[in-house]
Amino acid sequence: NPSSGLTGSQQVRLSSLARDLACMNGLLLKDNPASSSSGSAAPDRCMMAPITLVPSSFSKEAFNQAVELQALFNSLYHRVSRDHNFLCRVIPPAAESDSFLSALWDMYQTVRQSGADQPITLALNRADYMLDEEAGLKQVEINLMASSFGGLAQRLSTVHRQVMSAAGVSERQLAHRLPDNRPAETFGEAFIQAFKLYGRPEAAILFVVSPDERNIFDQRTLEAEIYAADASSDSPVHVPQILRRSFDQIASSARLEESSGRLYLADQEVAIVYYRHGYSPDHFSDPAGVAWSAKLLMERSRAIKCPSLAYMLANTKAVQAALCEPGAVARYLPGKSAKVEATFVDQCVLSDSRAHRWLLADPEDFVLKPQREGGGNNIYGRDVVDFASRLTTRQSAAYILMRRIRPQQQVSLMLKADQRLSRRPEMPLCVSAISELGIYGALVAKNNSERLNCSAGHVLRTKSAFTDEGGVATGFSCIDTVYLV
Ligand code: ADP
Ligand code: MG
Repeated sequence: NPSSGLTGSQQVRLSSLARDLACMNGLLLKDNPASSSSGSAAPDRCMMAPITLVPSSFSKEAFNQAVELQALFNSLYHRVSRDHNFLCRVIPPAAESDSFLSALWDMYQTVRQSGADQPITLALNRADYMLDEEAGLKQVEINLMASSFGGLAQRLSTVHRQVMSAAGVSERQLAHRLPDNRPAETFGEAFIQAFKLYGRPEAAILFVVSPDERNIFDQRTLEAEIYAADASSDSPVHVPQILRRSFDQIASSARLEESSGRLYLADQEVAIVYYRHGYSPDHFSDPAGVAWSAKLLMERSRAIKCPSLAYMLANTKAVQAALCEPGAVARYLPGKSAKVEATFVDQCVLSDSRAHRWLLADPEDFVLKPQREGGGNNIYGRDVVDFASRLTTRQSAAYILMRRIRPQQQVSLMLKADQRLSRRPEMPLCVSAISELGIYGALVAKNNSERLNCSAGHVLRTKSAFTDEGGVATGFSCIDTVYLV
């Protein structure tokens, strides 16, 4: 593990280098408005994103396994999203006592009944795993919406390579241990391919964003890579514009041309709606329902939504658990399901009788999850029993119970923006940590026909072994990359 071999003076020297390189390469987050005394941060104030000083060691075999699985996961979820009967079976019971999921389900049905069609798919996914000490590579979840950190991970690979080189690791070793990592570049290429399939060269790309996004440089990296992918493609289309708009802004300027199904913002047609926002109930909390109306308008259009409503539904934890039923994956990936299923841990809906048995046997071995995205929603260990005992059967259908993955701990050297309060601010924080591997994947399809399906690089998120939840923006995790061993 690269972290364990460094002396104190090396750590000081490399930390100073890594901090400079991180800022130079745009490994930044916008300042948190809540942390400033006025409650609103100056628009140009940034801080270094939390990163590890050096990459963390990760099994080469398990890493390659995850990379190889990615195209299968991309296909699997594409097919699930197109299986209306399956969604009809899995979603309504989970949605019954979950008002957010229920609103998405209603919108999905409304749009479906209106006959609106989105023939082209652009999927930008990230499959998350932990390497269990005993059981090997195990899936935490898959993200089909707003999969983040591809831009920062790509930049961090550049920084980690230079830091390792400064630590005296040979070029030959680096080529061998640090995999090529360009998630944002690959996503940019997928954008251009989908854009060309849409066939309206004058149209724009719309990023749906939070009005106070902190992880903006991750998104800006993707914007830059879209332009770059276009410029270096065989027949550049000169994508006219990438617009960034909040639901509010969209509501006040979007228009649907009913005859053609085309979406316009003012007079600008939109080819692709890329959601980096709108995966959580609090993104729709305005009492007038403006965000919901803006979403419905976009969903009723023929613009490519990344992700579509069907993909959002396929992305629920309820679907993840349903795919663990025997034979479920094989229906979508005939002959290829075993490799995918090998990464699944025990999980089921909390209302299932198995859940009751598991909790009686050993609650510490489980995680309880609602149908939510974005971190901070899970319940762990003993709290699960208490929590579960207060739910009705109907309510418990909205949760899944999942066996806990137990990754090996290893030393990690972490750099956070504000270490001034620590006793030795020039030193990295030395933490006993665990890592979660994210493998990016891109898929472009026209109806059932896949035009692009590939894996697209990785990110590690490394956190203290003593915190249950992850989350980079929440301050728990650092962005990290792999050192293959
Ligand atoms: P979210 O959609 O909120 O990101 P996740 O399923 O990724 O939900 O769970 C959030 C975090 O909880 C993960 O990043 C991981 O740290 C932890 N976690 C989730 N499931 C498990 C599990 N089965 N075993 C161990 N940790 C888990
Ligand atoms: Mg997650």
